[in-house]
Amino acid sequence: MENIFFDLDGTLIESRPRLYQLFQNMIPSSKLSFDEYWTYKRNKISHKEILQNVFSYSLEDISKFEKEWLERIELPEWLVLDTPFEGISDYLNKLKYTYKIFIVTSRQSEKRALEQIDQFGWLDVVKKVFVTGQTQEKHDLIKNGVTIHSKDWFVGDTGKDIQTGKRLGINTAAVLTGFLNEKKLLEYKPDIIEREVIKLNFNK
Ligand SMILES: [Mg+2]
Repeated sequence: MENIFFDLDGTLIESRPRLYQLFQNMIPSSKLSFDEYWTYKRNKISHKEILQNVFSYSLEDISKFEKEWLERIELPEWLVLDTPFEGISDYLNKLKYTYKIFIVTSRQSEKRALEQIDQFGWLDVVKKVFVTGQTQEKHDLIKNGVTIHSKDWFVGDTGKDIQTGKRLGINTAAVLTGFLNEKKLLEYKPDIIEREVIKLNFNK
């Protein structure tokens, strides 16, 4: 059976409200709407650039912001805002009969990622969850943990995800439910691209 590696945030679950709400919480003067914030982000405009150009933050304040962001972004009070995309649970439950399913995430906290995936009822669906802890590369975790076949797939919402699949020598699928828009994702030349995971056809 071939493997499919799914990224978590923006691919299997809607985590954009969590990021937007935390941003608004940390920048009380921000009048950015959800769509405005995500139009910046999906165009690959970083927090640093937003803070500098829209809010005139100093470099010192930006680095304070970035540190606090990492400390807070995976706290339970924010993670509770995450929701699985519609139809994803049924989709994974069918897919598990034809593929070995893995989740690969660059979250900092393995414990909280596993708790959340368990809460969604997916621990029985996946063979394993790889959490980089932001100390390792997704590529290395997979390579050291799984026997790869050229017909395997990596599915994600960022350029980094597509690059990871390509480095592993497997197929790559990009989805538009997450952190990058179509134009930005196409720059990484995924093998296929779809609006959302449940529309993907792996029999290419
Ligand atoms: Mg993602």
